[in-house]
Amino acid sequence: MLSVHTSPLHQPGTGDAGGMNVYIVELAKRLAAINIEVEIFTRATTGALPPAVELAPGVLVRHIDAGPYEGLAKEELPAQLCAFTHGVMQAWAGHRPGHYDLVHSHYWLSGHVGWLAAERWGVPLVHAMHTMAKVKNAALAAGDTPEPDTRVIGETQIVRAADRLIANTEGEAQELVHHYDADPGKVAVVHPGVNLDRFRPAEGRAAARERLGLPADALVPLFAGRIQPLKAPDVLLRAVAELLDRQPALRSRIVVPVVGGPSGSGMAKPEGLQKLAARLGIADVVRFRPPVGQEQLADWYRAASVLVMPSHSESFGLVAAEAQACGTPVLAASVGGLPVAVRDGESGFLVDGHDPADYAAVLGRFADEPGLAGRMGEAAARHARRFGWGTAAAATAEVYTEAMAERRRRLRSSHV
Ligand code: UDP
Repeated sequence: MLSVHTSPLHQPGTGDAGGMNVYIVELAKRLAAINIEVEIFTRATTGALPPAVELAPGVLVRHIDAGPYEGLAKEELPAQLCAFTHGVMQAWAGHRPGHYDLVHSHYWLSGHVGWLAAERWGVPLVHAMHTMAKVKNAALAAGDTPEPDTRVIGETQIVRAADRLIANTEGEAQELVHHYDADPGKVAVVHPGVNLDRFRPAEGRAAARERLGLPADALVPLFAGRIQPLKAPDVLLRAVAELLDRQPALRSRIVVPVVGGPSGSGMAKPEGLQKLAARLGIADVVRFRPPVGQEQLADWYRAASVLVMPSHSESFGLVAAEAQACGTPVLAASVGGLPVAVRDGESGFLVDGHDPADYAAVLGRFADEPGLAGRMGEAAARHARRFGWGTAAAATAEVYTEAMAERRRRLRSSHV
């Protein structure tokens, strides 16, 4: 696997580390469990780690020197792709021929390295976009920076070069075909998973609130994830302000945790959300917390009345699936993979658009009907059980097998 711009060893929830990191870690572990050994190449961002680290039995992370450890933004990495590829080739040269059976690249930067490596090694290239420039640009938050044309060009090249493209949902598969002219026969849909051992209802909401020091009877709408305009945490804050305008008595029993750190275009104004909370006059009810490990994140999910995900674009939305697996309903924008992750009216609510009033109306329902979170939460936990990583890994392995079989067929027919 190739993950050039972000390491599976990084803490997700801030900077460049998010769902893709979780995806790679979980997928690699489950693949290893079914005897598919995985090596993950990533760019070294510290000198403190050895060149290779065992993440789990059968999963090795290889650190490649390509540019300085610190101070390079993701946008500057296209200039380091040759250096990165050189490092990958050096690692490969130390092995017997045929060491790698297949290349699975994640995100377009890795796709470019994978393109060359797969061709040089004579193996298939399987690529997962995770996000796509054209899709993001079509749904930008007001004032957010669009993805550059160079990324669109790069993605288009990978769509052509890859033997198989893995999409998170049927919708994403259609986006690949519609926006990038992908051959539909090359696109496979594999839903990402949820670590169902880690994300489970456990002893429930009350116990989690006690552990986190949250009031037992409060309305707790939670935001968790990378803080940037694309994720629209501002919509949650505006909705809370609107709700409190309408129901001032609620102020004494509402807590709004925001768990995560600045990322992407949100880095330009790292304090932006705190300032917005102050401007809206709700700083007293919002609690900002830095990103936490997933064990603790599971407690935040359990403690919440509802997880709120008003994103402008979302390839899948792992936090929505994780929260549901913990027995917490989700209030989400009806974009990207979220209608797959959330069953509207059953495991949560999907809202069209980003009008805070619409989100405030749903939050009002959770405030007025104390049993709603519990009731929907049970349905949410049932719904989330569909998304195990074991299933995702088995489906991915099938994609690998098909890609390898097709390559062998092609080789045979070119020899006759
Ligand atoms: N996450 C985490 N700690 C945090 C916040 C988020 O480990 O404090 C993880 C979360 O469990 C999820 C991922 O970050 O798996 C975010 O994935 P998602 O698909 O929701 O968003 P992305 O980052 O891919 O845009």
